[in-house]
Amino acid sequence: CQAGEVLLRTRGLAKSFRGVKALSGVDVEVQRGEILGLLGPNGSGKSTFINVVTGHYAPSSGSVVFEGQELGRSAAHRIARAGISRTYQIPRPFARQTVLDNAALAAMFGGGIRSPAAARGQAMTWLAFAGLQDKAHAYPDELNLHQRKFLELARALASRPRLVLLDEVLCGLTPSEIDDAVALVRRIRDQGATVIFVEHVMRAVMALTDRVVVFDHGELLAEGAAAEVMRRPEVMAAYLGP
Ligand code: ADP
Ligand code: MG
Repeated sequence: CQAGEVLLRTRGLAKSFRGVKALSGVDVEVQRGEILGLLGPNGSGKSTFINVVTGHYAPSSGSVVFEGQELGRSAAHRIARAGISRTYQIPRPFARQTVLDNAALAAMFGGGIRSPAAARGQAMTWLAFAGLQDKAHAYPDELNLHQRKFLELARALASRPRLVLLDEVLCGLTPSEIDDAVALVRRIRDQGATVIFVEHVMRAVMALTDRVVVFDHGELLAEGAAAEVMRRPEVMAAYLGP
């Protein structure tokens, strides 16, 4: 991979919901191969950013360029095929499909694998990567929170994305589960994916991110190295709220 290559660039990205500006004028650049932390208080627009970049919502204005291609008006399935995948803040597996088939469906729809057998093979690789090989034939409601979160990761990876957006995957995990997840995210990057990581668990942000951006009220408030950015008075004030 080339050093300093911009993988994703947003320009003036904005999204309003009935007059509420969830995002306004956001310019973010993500380098290929980096782990970027996306921080900010509740309601600052982090999930909306993920939803717009992945095509779950159309932007109100602005552009999203991925590998040089404008994706801002594309449907979610096209964006998935273009190489971007995500997890949800609240895991949402298909309850009637096994763990294996949940990952296999991601390999088919996001990864473009046609044959169910090949998709299950690919899925098994990613379940093993996430430590869930023993749960392949279980159903999602038989999993604990930690396993459901890791299934989310395995599903996101099964489409072989070049960019993965992780929305609060560590929320609710125990400290040792967080350590496992941190190691897993590192391995995801080492496999060649670029990661955007929305997270409140500061220990993980400090351990993992190359750089962070901080949103406040839908705008980019700060960017830089996590340890330095989190000490800035305007960033601390944003977390304290009005
Ligand atoms: P964060 O993930 O940083 O906590 P969100 O992106 O979820 O923040 O929300 C940003 C703002 O947009 C909030 O005011 C939220 O209420 C609003 N918002 C997000 N999604 C929707 C939606 N689907 N409909 C209406 N308002 C929304
Ligand atoms: Mg959110």
